Amino acid sequence: MSKHPETDAIRIQTARTEQKEHSTPLFLTSSFTYDSAGDMAAAFADDSLDVNIYSRFSNPTVDEFISKMAALEGAEDGIATSTGMAAIFSTFMTFLGKGDHIISASAVFGSTHTILTKYLPKWGIEHSYFNMNQPETIAALIKPNTKMLYLETPSNPGLDIINIELVATLCKKNKILFVVDNCFATPAVQQPLKYGADLVLHSATKFIDGQGRVLGGVVVGKKELIHLLYLFVRNTGPSLSPFNAWILSKSLETLFIRMDKHADNALKIAERLQHHPKVSQVKYPFLEDHPQYEIAKKQMSNGGGIVTFEVKGGIDSGRKFLNALQMISMTNNLGDSRSIASHPASTTHSKLTEEERKAVGITPGLIRISVGLEHVEDILNDILQALEKC
Ligand SMILES: *Cc1c(COP(=O)(O)O)cnc(C)c1O
Repeated sequence: MSKHPETDAIRIQTARTEQKEHSTPLFLTSSFTYDSAGDMAAAFADDSLDVNIYSRFSNPTVDEFISKMAALEGAEDGIATSTGMAAIFSTFMTFLGKGDHIISASAVFGSTHTILTKYLPKWGIEHSYFNMNQPETIAALIKPNTKMLYLETPSNPGLDIINIELVATLCKKNKILFVVDNCFATPAVQQPLKYGADLVLHSATKFIDGQGRVLGGVVVGKKELIHLLYLFVRNTGPSLSPFNAWILSKSLETLFIRMDKHADNALKIAERLQHHPKVSQVKYPFLEDHPQYEIAKKQMSNGGGIVTFEVKGGIDSGRKFLNALQMISMTNNLGDSRSIASHPASTTHSKLTEEERKAVGITPGLIRISVGLEHVEDILNDILQALEKC
């Protein structure tokens, strides 16, 4: 391992083949061969043996992606999954069982909310929600059967930030597994393990791929925790495809420069919109008026690539804004080199009541921009001309 994560993201590589290729090879194979019956028997006898058997269990291309992610997050080990949701579901299924309780931030990704409220109760796992802006209320939610605490920081789409170190201390004291979805920040911006989280997971679909091509997920943490996750994934099958792992490993080579540029563009846009007459509120972790600005500065190296703002005029104005955009894409993704706009109240969160939306910080005119890597003036000009039509 090198001294600098920027170098690890580029130079960690599976052993070169006899072709001495420079770029990393893609091992697109479902299984691996043995030289003898004895070798084959040994591979199956010990599931901790470092030998490839079948790509549902392990694959050199997938392992390369995992090794890079573990190095970037400062973790001992990791597992990769087919999607971010597979990473989240596998984590819940591995560490929670009948009669257990999980405490989660209420502002979590939509499908995570669905797992917590619709599926976990079917298996006798109960949950409690806390508000990201009231971390002092978490302690009172802890019960004797609380096994896990789960959150995203920054949260989606509210961009709330929580003090990871503070929550980690509370979890350690109460022997609760602390899991952080680090999807919005990426390890280039924030490493939750450094502040005491036990497991960090990602939807690699977002900034890790960074170009809107493939789905993927990853969980990293201590070796003994990851081994339990590995056994779950190996036996139940939400494994990452080697092809997607190859794309993701190549993507990591540019993660740091991409995140720098995403954040640079995002900050410029946030500052420009702050005093716009059609905008009532701009939220970005590195704007001084963000409620958790000091915490963001402490645990993040930049403010990330997502900006939210409130257009005056509610739901109607939000729709008009989206319809008036000329370059920025209307699509259900984020973390792409192409800028993306979404209006949660009329799309991703339209099934919630107005009250439920408010509880997770989604106001009627809230626009979320995943700021891309285009020239910042072109992104800004598209936003400004669309605001004129609201
Ligand atoms: C997209 C996303 C997920 C789910 O990831 P998929 O790869 O779409 O399954 C989970 N958490 C956050 C914060 C996300 O943005």
